[in-house]
Amino acid sequence: MTTKELEDKLQARDIHPTAMRLLVLEYLIGQEEAISLSDLESHLTHSDRTTLYRTLKTFREHGLVHQIHDDSGNTKYALCRDDCTCSYPDDMHVHFYCSRCEKTYCFPHLTIPEMDLPDSFEPTYVNFVVTGTCPSCAS
Ligand SMILES: [Zn+2]
Ligand SMILES: [Zn+2]
Repeated sequence: MTTKELEDKLQARDIHPTAMRLLVLEYLIGQEEAISLSDLESHLTHSDRTTLYRTLKTFREHGLVHQIHDDSGNTKYALCRDDCTCSYPDDMHVHFYCSRCEKTYCFPHLTIPEMDLPDSFEPTYVNFVVTGTCPSCAS
């Protein structure tokens, strides 16, 4: 992806492109699985944790990434699809956590069915994580 394409992707979410945000976005795009703050920190070694955390927070607030809570104890982040608005139930989907390699995968095509909750319970977010073994750990 070119810098221009990365900038466009940020601007489409009303995020002002800065050098740091472009680096973080580029890293996110290159990953097959969801990333944690520590993953980001070990990749961008010259950046401090607070700045990286704020960058992910900004991305999340603008709907560029969503967060996942899996059994690893770390919050993970994955890119949203371009048309995602992070709303229930349309954009809520299944995640898969591999308990061997501790990687978390995003399955945007596996949507979560709308739940028949008791009256006056208003869902805003669903954390749906399947735990198991991924293909590389199974073989
Ligand atoms: Zn695995
Ligand atoms: Zn996801």
